[in-house]
Amino acid sequence: MTKLTGKIFAWDFHGTLEQGTEVGFAQILRNIARKINYKRRISLEEVRKYFGISVLDYLKQFFPTLSNEEVYQLREYVKDIQNQKHIQKYIKPAPYAHEVLAKIKTAGHKNIIISTSSYAHINRFLEVIGVIGYFDEIFGIDRHVLEGDFDIAREKTQAIEGFAQKHKIKSKNIVVIGDRSDDINAGINIGAKTYQYITPDFPHIATNADFKIYDLREILREL
Ligand SMILES: [Mg+2]
Repeated sequence: MTKLTGKIFAWDFHGTLEQGTEVGFAQILRNIARKINYKRRISLEEVRKYFGISVLDYLKQFFPTLSNEEVYQLREYVKDIQNQKHIQKYIKPAPYAHEVLAKIKTAGHKNIIISTSSYAHINRFLEVIGVIGYFDEIFGIDRHVLEGDFDIAREKTQAIEGFAQKHKIKSKNIVVIGDRSDDINAGINIGAKTYQYITPDFPHIATNADFKIYDLREILREL
């Protein structure tokens, strides 16, 4: 008999397991523009275009003439305003997220999250939408400073690789699910199976994912 080895399901969070964050975030960016009197039109389409980047990068993108110091201050403001009440108002789990995560866990596999939000922040999101209990580990790989480059795919690769090594799980038993090319490239970097989750709200993104899915339940064929 072969020894039963569990798989790792490495999830992106925003745009993959939830919906609505970007709508609330566009609102926050508009609040900021008003608050600091920054003349900048902020459309939902543009916010969606950059979805997946860190809060610091978003702030730099929309308010490019601010100093780094001002951007750091605004990040604190975002942390305050994007609180439980805000999350409850705008964000809900993606369709079938609960069902899929529960079935993976029940089957004895591991779910992990690798998000570009901060650790505290991603925990808050997971708690509010009621999925935190399905995860074995949560990685918040937020960009902390604006200096230096921040390669999301590389950061995600390292997080998944480290977890896999710790649990002695081979790359053929890793499934990576995300909505952006950085998620998929992290999966490709480690030789995992990759699933791109596509939702009609977001502009099309070309990736080299093994599978493109429109329904999270398609992941269950990996069980
Ligand atoms: Mg995402």
